[in-house]
Amino acid sequence: MKDQEYIEVYGARAHNLKNINVKIPREKLVVITGLSGSGKSSLAFDTIYAEGQRRYIETFSAYARQFLGGLERPDVDKIDGLSPVISIEQKTTNKSPRSTVGTITEIYDFLRLLFSRAADAYSYNTGEKMVSYSDEQIKNLILNDFKDKRIAVLAPVVKSRKGHYRELFEQISKQGFVKVRVDGEIKEIEKGMRLDRYKTHDIEVVIDRLIVNSSSEKRLVETIKTALYTGNNILMVIDVDNEKPRYFSKELMCPISGIAYPSPEPNTFSFNSPKGACSKCNGLGITNEINFNKVIPDNSISIKNGGIIPLGEEKNSWIFKQLHLIADRYGFKLSDAIKSIPEEALTIILNGGNEKFSIASKTMGVTRKYEIDFEGITSFIENQYKSSESRSIKRWAKGFMDEVTCSTCEGKRLKKESLHFKINEKSISDLAKLDINELAEWFYNLNAKLSERQLTIASEILKEIKTRIQFLLDVGLDYLTIDRTSKSLSGGEAQRIRLATQIGSQLVGVLYILDEPSIGLHQRDNQKLIDSLVKLRDIGNSVLVVEHDKDMIEHADFVFDIGPGAGVHGGEIVSEGTYQEIKEHSTLTADYLGGRREIEVPKNRRKGNGKSIKITGASGNNLKSVTAEFPLGKMICVTGVSGSGKSTLINETLYPILNKHIYRGVKEPMPYKKLQV
Ligand SMILES: [Zn+2]
Repeated sequence: MKDQEYIEVYGARAHNLKNINVKIPREKLVVITGLSGSGKSSLAFDTIYAEGQRRYIETFSAYARQFLGGLERPDVDKIDGLSPVISIEQKTTNKSPRSTVGTITEIYDFLRLLFSRAADAYSYNTGEKMVSYSDEQIKNLILNDFKDKRIAVLAPVVKSRKGHYRELFEQISKQGFVKVRVDGEIKEIEKGMRLDRYKTHDIEVVIDRLIVNSSSEKRLVETIKTALYTGNNILMVIDVDNEKPRYFSKELMCPISGIAYPSPEPNTFSFNSPKGACSKCNGLGITNEINFNKVIPDNSISIKNGGIIPLGEEKNSWIFKQLHLIADRYGFKLSDAIKSIPEEALTIILNGGNEKFSIASKTMGVTRKYEIDFEGITSFIENQYKSSESRSIKRWAKGFMDEVTCSTCEGKRLKKESLHFKINEKSISDLAKLDINELAEWFYNLNAKLSERQLTIASEILKEIKTRIQFLLDVGLDYLTIDRTSKSLSGGEAQRIRLATQIGSQLVGVLYILDEPSIGLHQRDNQKLIDSLVKLRDIGNSVLVVEHDKDMIEHADFVFDIGPGAGVHGGEIVSEGTYQEIKEHSTLTADYLGGRREIEVPKNRRKGNGKSIKITGASGNNLKSVTAEFPLGKMICVTGVSGSGKSTLINETLYPILNKHIYRGVKEPMPYKKLQV
């Protein structure tokens, strides 16, 4: 097998293939070309790849195979010299919003590791660098900084929480402590002591009071031990003369405000883990918020006539009974136009309210009590969206919402604490927003900024990150950011990322099959792609590419041309050999390669209908307030290097605007100022 020079295919008949035999040179870059529909993919994917997959699954145990189902043998007599096959197609992207360029390339995983080991934490309260100490260090700091001073050592037990804390005081008292500091004031614990349960409180237990000098050192050691135990690894020292508190902790803590962070671990920086994810958006960076313009699109209509879209026209239901009560209370009628309803009442209708009130009945002369207990349209829709089992109800509720950037994490997906761990002044989310080029530069300059300790811890991780960045640069994806979701990638980009990760895996003896990898790639980046494929070959793999691109054909070691026509008129090898050889053959492909045929540029261009669509101030993604006028009744081409913003302008901005206008589409366009026709 090792000495075999060719992958030999005999009697391939899949789809339109005409019982052909092919000898594909191994460990070479081989291109299969030919016009669309001629049978290129039938040979590469439906014959060679399918057989490779089938043989691979045959190696599984019978038990495992029953879950996979048997793969059918492709319509071919025999294939010799086949290696394990990996296909790199365009349609393999993960559609989950939790998958990003960073996660699929593993760069983000290594960044998490790097941050958990080598980042410094900063307080989100004061911006101070967080510190953590050992018992010994705490003792020495107190001995030094409070020398000859009278201090109180306290253990914080409640920090900014509501409650009356009666049981807590009893418990503290039982442990033998007599004093506590409540909201900054030192008090003796009294029997039955309790606080205002609706206010937030800070409570510290007074462990000891002493004067700091060499004779009190031994006592201080015991005091520190007790205080750290009672205060869950945090203690507070108060200078009795000026009552200024200072905190010491065995965990990461802000020395001024005393807030503490849990020790960092890789999951602290993962938006897919509860340890790291922003709890408002669950790590998605976006939330769905009610858009009142969708709930009440026209405020000249009355509630009775269906002005509140989610409720529809008035019917005999509990909700409308409540609305009648609100109307009675605030003096309007459900048949009034919504714009004339008092602001206060509309707020209750939208956001809910509870109120008891009385109305005197005019006819009977008696007073009756009523109660408004209305959850509000907003929370009604939100609850349907969050908890309904039915997909159609969820979709209905989503129709009144807009996707907006999460207000808590500002789209950064992580908890506040996680965003305050920094390396060379950048948080992990700052790094994820850099494009691969900027990221490469940042890492290139990083070593000089790290301490000896950080360098020792990080050197292996840095190496892994840098090689992965290099692979992405090699395939021309320097413009992507790590936080870009993989569902927003084009097919070509996703394929090149997979290519980059494959080069990174350093496998040898594999047959890689690719499907038009140059699609969507600007000429500038084409050479980088070809270089990557050559690299894959040079480490000892066979590379088989289905491709129309002329540069790729020129760089191939060997070319198959399938034709002569499409469908039943194709399915035959019309020409094979090196680029120079096939160029001389008399085939359609060769005529174009040799310049004997070309796509003619039309002499007269269409005039169009004189009308145009003008978009002003488009600023989605990387667009810099673009203004563009599109002439109508013509074929228009929008071009530019990969990642320059072509799709953002057309697919993400212009198309949704028009789709919304003409077909009532629901997709929101990216930001723009004006559209004129
Ligand atoms: Zn968030």
